[in-house]
Amino acid sequence: MDDKLKDPSATKRLRTDAAGIAAAADSLRAGGLVAFPTETVYGLGADATDGRAVAAIYAAKGRPSFNPLIAHVATVEAALALGEFDADAEALARAFWPGPLTLVVPMAAGAGISDLARAGLDTVGLRVPSHPVAQALLTAAGRPIAAPSANRSGHVSPTTADHVLDDLDGRIDAVVDGGATEVGVESTIVACLGGAPVLLRPGGVPREAIEKVIGRPLTASTGEATIAPGMLASHYAPQAGLRLDVMAPAPGEALLAFGRDVPVADGPVLNLSPSGDLAEAAANLFGHLRTLDAAAACGIAVMPIPGEGLGEAIRDRLARAAAPRS
Ligand code: AMP
Ligand code: MG
Repeated sequence: MDDKLKDPSATKRLRTDAAGIAAAADSLRAGGLVAFPTETVYGLGADATDGRAVAAIYAAKGRPSFNPLIAHVATVEAALALGEFDADAEALARAFWPGPLTLVVPMAAGAGISDLARAGLDTVGLRVPSHPVAQALLTAAGRPIAAPSANRSGHVSPTTADHVLDDLDGRIDAVVDGGATEVGVESTIVACLGGAPVLLRPGGVPREAIEKVIGRPLTASTGEATIAPGMLASHYAPQAGLRLDVMAPAPGEALLAFGRDVPVADGPVLNLSPSGDLAEAAANLFGHLRTLDAAAACGIAVMPIPGEGLGEAIRDRLARAAAPRS
């Protein structure tokens, strides 16, 4: 990733012919970053099952915090295998996929979506896009592809390959140039987690069309039930107390370490990245937190993590996990 960040000619513009799609799919399967058109906006794709590849999305976008990402697959059947769909969720899937609808459902056992792509949640956001280029690429990749909008954090979503390159040239492996996208607004997000489906974000599929399929009004997302972008009130948070920037863990405290110089600890120790690699640390973050949370008798001490690059998002997540909760 560092090499790519320095080389402004590293991003290939690929055609939508068979050779272009094959090259894009190969790159995705090798852990690369490939932007591609969907019927909403251009997405920045990475293998959703590969935490390192997902970490690279955050590095390329310069996103200062981890949000759950949508996993894209080519077919309704592939999506149904990745989640636990209740009757409403399955009806919505069959009515609107392929199309601009994202369904948030509990992840199926063994689905393998990396916990960084889920921001540590037990749920997964799934979508089957209808754009023919997205369809071809997802079919060729043969695995779920995490794909937030292909722009730098804080910039507007791209609807052409030129927009993508304006923001990300030299930071990603390739963009598949499929011309201008049609809708330009993002997917509608509906959570089906037992009980009434909840509208998390309005988007390409109108609320009325969804309500017609489920035969009742959508619940608005409010307060603690909210799992919407940015708000994420029910984001994964460890039970154990966290202390940040600790060089000397207290007796019995678990230690979330980073880098080579790890202090002596008498509690359980897990290292986010012994070599001090922030992408590896991001990929390990949620899994290590969960493991230490289950093992920790008296809290988790976290070693200092540098604040640059992906470190900003890692520190943001840890600071939120350490904040007092009501
Ligand atoms: P986008 O900005 O189009 O990439 O959509 C990302 C948004 O999808 C996130 O900010 C969440 O609101 C939503 N999302 C994806 N996965 C989940 C999930 N597992 N739980 C809740 N929301 C999710
Ligand atoms: Mg965006």
